[in-house]
Amino acid sequence: MSDRLPNPGRDGVLFLPLGGCGQFGANFTLYGYDGSWILVDCGMAFADERLPGVDILLPNPTLIADQKEKLKGLFVTHAHEDHIGAIAWLWPRLRCPIYATPFTAALLRRKFEEHTFKGGGPVITVVEDEKPIKVDHWTVTYIPVAHSIPEGNALHIETGAGNIVHTGDWCLDPNPVLGDKTSPEAFRALGDKGVMLYIGDSTNAEVRSQPLSELDVETGLVEVFSKAPRKIAVTMFASNVGRIISIHRAARAAGRQVGLVGRSLITMVECARESGHIDQGMRFLSADDAADVADSKIVLIVTGSQGETRAALSRIARGMHPAVKLKPDDTMVFSSRAIPGNETAINEIKNALLEMGVRIVTDREARVHVSGHPVRSDISQMLDWLRPNSVIPVHGERVQMESHADLAHEKQIKNVHVPSNGELLKINADGITPVRKFTATFQAIDFDRVVPADNITILERRKMSFNGAVFITIVADRETGEILDAQATATGLLNEKDPNDARVLTELEDACADKFEMLKKHDRLNEDNVIEAVRAAAKRFFRDFRDIKPVVNVHVSLV
Ligand SMILES: [Zn+2]
Ligand SMILES: [Zn+2]
Repeated sequence: MSDRLPNPGRDGVLFLPLGGCGQFGANFTLYGYDGSWILVDCGMAFADERLPGVDILLPNPTLIADQKEKLKGLFVTHAHEDHIGAIAWLWPRLRCPIYATPFTAALLRRKFEEHTFKGGGPVITVVEDEKPIKVDHWTVTYIPVAHSIPEGNALHIETGAGNIVHTGDWCLDPNPVLGDKTSPEAFRALGDKGVMLYIGDSTNAEVRSQPLSELDVETGLVEVFSKAPRKIAVTMFASNVGRIISIHRAARAAGRQVGLVGRSLITMVECARESGHIDQGMRFLSADDAADVADSKIVLIVTGSQGETRAALSRIARGMHPAVKLKPDDTMVFSSRAIPGNETAINEIKNALLEMGVRIVTDREARVHVSGHPVRSDISQMLDWLRPNSVIPVHGERVQMESHADLAHEKQIKNVHVPSNGELLKINADGITPVRKFTATFQAIDFDRVVPADNITILERRKMSFNGAVFITIVADRETGEILDAQATATGLLNEKDPNDARVLTELEDACADKFEMLKKHDRLNEDNVIEAVRAAAKRFFRDFRDIKPVVNVHVSLV
């Protein structure tokens, strides 16, 4: 079967996720109809320890990049990194117009400033809520929803084959600190128009308890701040501008000023001011200025709530931050929840802080965090408003997506399908038809380059981290082919200063030298042949020695 996308017809809408299904992050959803495609969101995901040295993963856009002339636009629902984090990296391969609301557009422009593009950068069209955008055979309308970032949106996508509601990330917070509530009237009206397909956020589909409101969190923060004896630091997602406002108000109530620690927070506050979400009068100190304020008069907001090693929180916990030092009885508030996969890194930070004598407050001890995603009863409400003919859960691991699907079944919706990344589906009035499966792969940002996530360098790094690396140098006479020297090191396996290990290294060098000498003279003078033979000898040596398979590098020097 060809590895090309089929040409979308008019007898249904094609749906193809290349990220965001079965794992959190890297949301990238293609819709196809009548000869053209549109893309909804283009986000990044966090890499885990399976890819050592890699922090960020991107979707692989090759399928659509190969026919980018058919891609009519990228519609961005909101500015969370799992929805926009891959755009600046991948846009050069897509080169389509981008649509986003003012805050999201402001952030995107800053991201694009860090990249240079041959032939010019993208055109970003700033969209207004509820004003339909017509592109080719598509009409897309942004419908505001409450979420943990300014300007969350669902998309209403109209085609000749039927209407789609793509919820984006949303919740039913009755008292959001910032922005609109999710409007029952707006979604009921979409339901009245007829919804062929619902694509929905599954993050909290399993959660059966009633969530707090963002305003409850503000009350919770006021309580925590009132009890803290010394310096307070709060870590959270930089993009949660409503939370920044809540922290600021709670800090003022406690007679404290607020300092921002971490570049992404400063960028967020700038973008929020530009798009009118933060008052010009709301003041924030820089980390350096905050250091001059008395401990009992300051609240610091710090980046890095997910344990990212280079972010402020991790550096503070290691005592390595140039402007922020925490002492016993200072308070660190985790106004955030771990994204699955980041728990170990976050626990390491908590342990380091506890060792310093810092008091830790999380959402277990106080009302200091609420999720921006719909719980089960919220999703149920949304399905009642929309009454869709077909349901496809996205934005979750398999468990959350299946739970979302079960809920849709409970609500008597007949056509429900849990997709995988790369699965092409056709949806029309008759329901959902699987068309075929493409292989969906990811790319990694590795030292500022985009490479396939299964790139040999990353695989080798992983292998080295488990099995060590062996370096062997063979020096031979280029005239006679006689061996002059064989030297080996085994990083991560053998310590040459230890007499026992040193003996093993000598045995390894002997085995390699023996192998070399067993070669015919013309093979000995051919570098490739030597490398192949010596590498095989070293591998056999370590297999016999301890059944390990290190990365083996052989260097040949003919002198
Ligand atoms: Zn998301
Ligand atoms: Zn989000």
